[in-house]
Amino acid sequence: MLYFSWTHERQGNEVHRISRRGFISAAIAGGVAASLPTEPSQAGGAGQRKTRYIAAYDTESVGCLAACRRIVEVHKQFEMPATFFILGRTLDANPAEYRKLLDDPLFEIASHTYSHQMLRDNEFCGSAVSADQKRMEIFKGKETVERVFERPCVGIRPGCGFDNALRGDGEVLGLIREAGFKYVSSLLWGPDYSMPALLREPFNYAADGFANLWELPGHGWHENLLKNHNGWGAKRLTLWPAPFPEAIPRSFCKTPTDEFEVNRIFLDRAGETETTFVSLIWHPWSLVKFDPEMKMLELTFAHARASELIPCTYAQLHEHVSALPG
Ligand SMILES: [Zn+2]
Repeated sequence: MLYFSWTHERQGNEVHRISRRGFISAAIAGGVAASLPTEPSQAGGAGQRKTRYIAAYDTESVGCLAACRRIVEVHKQFEMPATFFILGRTLDANPAEYRKLLDDPLFEIASHTYSHQMLRDNEFCGSAVSADQKRMEIFKGKETVERVFERPCVGIRPGCGFDNALRGDGEVLGLIREAGFKYVSSLLWGPDYSMPALLREPFNYAADGFANLWELPGHGWHENLLKNHNGWGAKRLTLWPAPFPEAIPRSFCKTPTDEFEVNRIFLDRAGETETTFVSLIWHPWSLVKFDPEMKMLELTFAHARASELIPCTYAQLHEHVSALPG
């Protein structure tokens, strides 16, 4: 997400209609959810999809805690794993509450840095901070997760992400490796800082001298932008020619169903093309402002299950890709 945006959150932006919400609730209760398989899909089954699906949340502001309460309920209902990338500063503000809420085998807790400072230049979010500040963001972010949850923190997602991941940035890659992370999720934009982030595959940083450090990208839109939650209005965000024109909606999302319809394009394309995984870029503060009941999550998880995508966490994806030959 774009760090400064959550200071721009606006009130009274509930644009979805009760009638629509009621329709979605009825559809979930009466049809889609009831037809789901009761057991999670297993990797490697004959005839099943090989594409993994990861629900992931950039958890980074005061509004995220209340949002996570409802998010966790939906995950337990669907037995859906998740990775929560959490700011150290956000955790330090409510350590006991987050521990109680997210200390569950379904969930991976990863770092979103300590306070969302830029680890490299980002066209929209600003310039990289100093070497000392980068070190603090990386090390203190990890330390906070491990202190609060008393379990290893193996992944980091830098604030905002970048359009070329961390390629060529030996300084930051070295710090991330020195801190003991196994993966970084920093490729969160399309080419030339466009939206959406394309369905990029995992890769390791062998070309930069860090063969044991993996990049596990995020895909799709930073969902806050789909709803104008940054207050940017119209913005130069898409490429021409568009590499994935079907994934560019005609206007801002107005209902949870609108958002699900965008999500579905990425899940379906990933499954059809058998990419290794698909994971959309979500923010609890923005999700709850738009859709407090989290109907979008229900629709998306139901679709992931019905499509036989394999649910997992980023840490589990790392285990998978790092064990592959060659
Ligand atoms: Zn963020």
